Amino acid sequence: MQQDSRSAEAGRRSSSALEAPSPREQGEGGVAIIGGGIIGICAAAFLAEAGLDVTVFDRTGICEETSSGNAAAFAFSDVLPLAHKGMIKNLPKWLADPLGPLSIPPAYLPQLLPWLIRFWRAGAPAKYEASLAAQAGMMKLAEAEWMGLLDRSGTRPMLREDGSLELYESEAEFRAGLSGWAARERFGIGFRHVEREELATLQAGLSPRFVKGTFVPGWKTVADPKLLGKAVWAYAEAKGARFEMARIDRVAADRDGATLTLADGTTRHAKRLVVAAGAWSHRLARQLGDRIPLETERGYNTTLPKSAFDVKRMLIFSGHGFVITPLATGLRVGGAVELGGIERRPNYDRSKALLLKAQAFLPGLDPTGGREWMGFRPSLPDSVPVIGEAPASPSVLYAFGHGHLGLTQAAATGRLIRELVLGQTPPVDLAPFSPQRF
Ligand SMILES: Cc1cc2nc3c(=O)[nH]c(=O)nc-3n(C[C@H](O)[C@H](O)[C@H](O)COP(=O)(O)OP(=O)(O)OC[C@H]3O[C@@H](n4cnc5c(N)ncnc54)[C@H](O)[C@@H]3O)c2cc1C
Repeated sequence: MQQDSRSAEAGRRSSSALEAPSPREQGEGGVAIIGGGIIGICAAAFLAEAGLDVTVFDRTGICEETSSGNAAAFAFSDVLPLAHKGMIKNLPKWLADPLGPLSIPPAYLPQLLPWLIRFWRAGAPAKYEASLAAQAGMMKLAEAEWMGLLDRSGTRPMLREDGSLELYESEAEFRAGLSGWAARERFGIGFRHVEREELATLQAGLSPRFVKGTFVPGWKTVADPKLLGKAVWAYAEAKGARFEMARIDRVAADRDGATLTLADGTTRHAKRLVVAAGAWSHRLARQLGDRIPLETERGYNTTLPKSAFDVKRMLIFSGHGFVITPLATGLRVGGAVELGGIERRPNYDRSKALLLKAQAFLPGLDPTGGREWMGFRPSLPDSVPVIGEAPASPSVLYAFGHGHLGLTQAAATGRLIRELVLGQTPPVDLAPFSPQRF
């Protein structure tokens, strides 16, 4: 990775300031992170491990929002950007169904249009290939960094390593996915296509409508994303990270760092600021002077009691845009994408529609006793997160926009943020992740 001179200079300043903080700097310096989701938590863990003075600010707590209720996958093989030909071909069919895998509330369309145009353009072959290569490199780092962090934080027992099974209802659906599998193969991702008998071995009780599947042995899940986030935070705290429950209303950057104005009107000053505020990050970036085309892909699920069905491994129904994950704490059924912005109220008919499908796909599934949930995937049009120095200020780093893959890429992001704060060379080229690419 090549850093520009401004970035290297910022890193050197920050590093030397943070290596030997004076008591005054301890009080008002160090690194502030806005966002206690899985990205902020992992960034805090890596920075605290490096001995830095780090404080996380969040209005709701640690791992209480989108990072708490996701599908729990370490989807290291999920390297395909969303804007690809197969996906775009499915759009008319999906959009025709108001409770289908993808929906756009008509009233939100005008606001969404610029993002949609960028999304469409991201599917152009050269851009698609560049995003694919960036994601593949990121995923290699993601797996290595998560395995390391799980070990160091004592959370490895929360890992499930039984792979995933993607399911197809027809030969045509299977064939439509083959180019995607070929692309994954190029990046060394292991998988095996399976037929009826082996399908039944990998998951008993499936509806006979599924004629083929793809088993990905390296796919991993976690016991429960909220419990994992809280456990990694406990580790970060043990390493010295601190938490302050507060909504940050304003951010401003200056020569000496960044100033945060809290909802109660008080301020905090930090030498470096990391914006890891998930789907709300672009609002903070805007205050600093940067326009980042961040949207939210809202997703829905229902977590049933564990006894609802004996699901052996994560089941993926790509044609219907949802998954079923066996957690230590229940059976989570959900997914789907609603491009409806941040303010709109949740429409839990979406969770119910997915649950109905799950009943059809796993006859015998008990749909009772579930808890419905909605979360905000922070998504950029090219499916690649923003990780890097804010164009508006070298005191600020951005770490957001991980879309469908924030849990998967959180430890890698933490590592990259640590290298940027310390002014060291990151292990992957950060150009594709640059906030300036838009
Ligand atoms: C249905 C669904 C399934 C998913 N499944 C998976 C999966 O299996 N694997 C995977 O890798 N990813 C998955 N994801 C995506 C993943 O959940 C997200 O990418 C990830 O949680 C984003 O983490 P984050 O830390 O960036 O954001 P968040 O978890 O949203 O955290 C951001 C935090 O910032 C805080 N915040 C925002 N603004 C302010 C402010 N002004 N002041 C104070 N605090 C503020 C918020 O309170 C929040 O706690 C899924 C998402 C959904 C919706």
